[in-house]
Amino acid sequence: MKPTHIEHIGIAVSNLAESVDFYEKVLGLKCYNIEEVADQKVRTAFFMIGQTKIELLESTDPQGTIARFIEKRGEGIHHIAFAVENIEEKLRHAADEGVRLIDTHPRKGAEGLDIAFLHPASAHGVLIELCEHPAGEKQDK
Ligand code: ZN
Repeated sequence: MKPTHIEHIGIAVSNLAESVDFYEKVLGLKCYNIEEVADQKVRTAFFMIGQTKIELLESTDPQGTIARFIEKRGEGIHHIAFAVENIEEKLRHAADEGVRLIDTHPRKGAEGLDIAFLHPASAHGVLIELCEHPAGEKQDK
């Protein structure tokens, strides 16, 4: 699989504004983007640390995945996203390894990334997201 880096860590929060406040005041980070992903019923806030982001996720729907996650387990780390190249191929590789996929094909996530999730039941309890910057928009920093 060989991910290039940890793209972001997704954290489920019940109140986005309060959480942004915490990361800005206590950790001294600056939120650079707030975005609603209608498809996933979330509002997200992003912070950059090195080449890794913190993605705070607040549910916009009481039936949404994040709302149900918080109801069951409380606020906390929701997923870890690995940056990969050729995400389609990486998904096929995972499937060949017997990994249960939540997404058999990549879909659009926040910040225009192509994303796909592997099921935590197949990944030792961690919800793993693979993501790739779409071709031509690779971040060269
Ligand atoms: Zn994510």
